[in-house]
Amino acid sequence: MAGLSMKNVSKSFANGFAAVKEFNIEVEDGEFIVLAGPSGCGKSTTLRMIAGLEDITAGEILIGGHKVNDVETKDRDVAMVFQNYALYPDMTVYENMAFGLKMRHMPEEKIDREVRWAARLLHLEPLLDHMPRMLSDGQRQRVAVGRAVVRRPKVFLMDEPLSNLDEELRLQTRRELKRIQEELKSTVIYVTQDQTEAMALGSRIVVMNDGEIQQIGTPEELYRNPCNKFVAGFIGSPRMNLFDVTVEQDKTCAVLVFGEHRITLTEEKSAPLLNGGYAGKTIVCGIRPEDFRIGKACKIGEGGSVEAVIQVQEAVGDEMFLYFQVDEIGFVARNGKGIDDHPGDRIRVCPDASRFYLFDPATERIITN
Ligand code: ATP
Repeated sequence: MAGLSMKNVSKSFANGFAAVKEFNIEVEDGEFIVLAGPSGCGKSTTLRMIAGLEDITAGEILIGGHKVNDVETKDRDVAMVFQNYALYPDMTVYENMAFGLKMRHMPEEKIDREVRWAARLLHLEPLLDHMPRMLSDGQRQRVAVGRAVVRRPKVFLMDEPLSNLDEELRLQTRRELKRIQEELKSTVIYVTQDQTEAMALGSRIVVMNDGEIQQIGTPEELYRNPCNKFVAGFIGSPRMNLFDVTVEQDKTCAVLVFGEHRITLTEEKSAPLLNGGYAGKTIVCGIRPEDFRIGKACKIGEGGSVEAVIQVQEAVGDEMFLYFQVDEIGFVARNGKGIDDHPGDRIRVCPDASRFYLFDPATERIITN
């Protein structure tokens, strides 16, 4: 296994479209890196450049310390697993997994050892003589992973490998992938649009938008310290609530005003706003769904509590999400065991102002959190 380094890598297509701009990352040997972002942000193009399936317009890619810009795909020692895991339909599971090794002229016994080792790892041993048509989607996907694993490549490249699977199978296969990666200590670059999947799998996540890296960090870092409004809105489910507020100054404190509501921040939280010249300006405020107290937990008269109108309460597993409006702006709160009130009822909600994320309206960069 080996690390990967990308230095100022850019890709413009023949029509002039810049799909990836100045991509920089140092991936350690054995890291599970997830490229995450909305459709069209350049994730697959980045992966294809690492694989050598797409020429790069500028920059350098190094695998295991060796520059591979001009090295052909087959000589890069990478293995890809795609969303459409095309297995050879006329070959058994065993033959499918052995095929790549045969093409590399590996001796028969070694091939056998490798295939059986990978089959054990992926719990495919009972299926080795099955044809692909006899397998479930999840099993087929495991064979596709097995085909990549037997090659023991320096780097695994995976492009939405689980997106064809149903929910339960996706979760199960996701856990399997993580287990295998930890067991093999392999370097993985994994593409997904799904931030939950990214959070579950990545030792670090690269959040991309419009061909640019927005932020690279551990799931925890991205959740707690997003560098801008895009990352704040992308990471987390349900999403962070984002709404406009106007900043007023009251001596050494900033007061956030929206509609009739006024929330005074602590001096510490106010400082970056007041020092940054935001008094009198409208900025973007963000609050995570878990940072509200609702109804009875929110004392009457408590500073910063606001009146809200309930829209709907939704049970997701053992969690309750409360959707409500304040001045016609929609919010969502994670709300423990839920409340007895009904849609249309008025309740008090208390946002925890110490947990506000505040963003510059023009650059969208974080001012303070
Ligand atoms: P998805 O999650 O939908 O797969 P992605 O983030 O992987 O999206 P890419 O497939 O990398 O996105 O595409 C990035 C952008 O480059 C898209 O806007 C796409 O339309 C554009 N693009 C891809 N291939 C070409 C091409 N050959 N010529 C011109 N533009 C292209």
